[in-house]
Amino acid sequence: MKTAIYPGSFDPLTCGHLDIIQRAARLFDKLIVLVSINPLKSYCFTSEEKVDFIRRVTGDLPNVEVDCYDGLLIDYFKKRNADVIVKGLRAMSDFENEFQMALVNKDLCYNAETIFLSADVVGTFLSSSMVKQIAMFGGDISSYVPHEIEKDIIKGVQRLGKDMKDEY
Ligand code: ADP
Repeated sequence: MKTAIYPGSFDPLTCGHLDIIQRAARLFDKLIVLVSINPLKSYCFTSEEKVDFIRRVTGDLPNVEVDCYDGLLIDYFKKRNADVIVKGLRAMSDFENEFQMALVNKDLCYNAETIFLSADVVGTFLSSSMVKQIAMFGGDISSYVPHEIEKDIIKGVQRLGKDMKDEY
C-alpha cells in the first residue's frame, strides 16, 4: 500500500490544487492532503477553514484524507509511514524552490521521494494569491475555484479586506 502526502498552504484551495489531488489520488492507494502551517507566512484563512474547504470538494474521493500540521513535513511523513511527497509544478519558477525542498527532505529522510506532477493548462497561471487579489476587488473567480467553496472564499477574502481597511 503506497501512501502519498500532498502538502501546501492551500490559502485557499484552487482548481489547480484540485486537479493535482484528483490525479495523485489515482496514482496512490492513499493520498493525504496536508494543510501545512508556515509560521513565517500570514494567511487569509484559518487551518480549520482550509481543511473544511478541501474536505468539501474531495468527498467523492474515498482514498483522500485531509489533515493539518504545524511542524516539519518530514516528521509528519515519518509519523504516517508515507512513501511519497507529491508536488505540483506550474512553471520553471516553481522548480528551483521545489527541487531544493525535495533534496532537503531526502537528506532528512532517505525514504522521502518527491514526485512532481505538472499543472494542467489552466492551472499553469493559477495561484491562491491571484484568486485572493481578484476576489478582493470583486472580480469573477468562478473558473478558478471549485464552485462548492466559491462563496466562502469570497467571504473570507472580503473579511480580510475589511480588517485591512479598519487598520488604516
Ligand atoms: P503556493 O505555492 O501558491 O503558496 P501552495 O503552497 O498551496 O501554493 O501549493 C501547494 C502545492 O501545490 C505546491 O507544490 C505548488 O507548486 C502546487 N500548486 C499550487 N498551485 C497550483 C496550480 N495552479 N496547479 C498545480 N499545482 C499547484
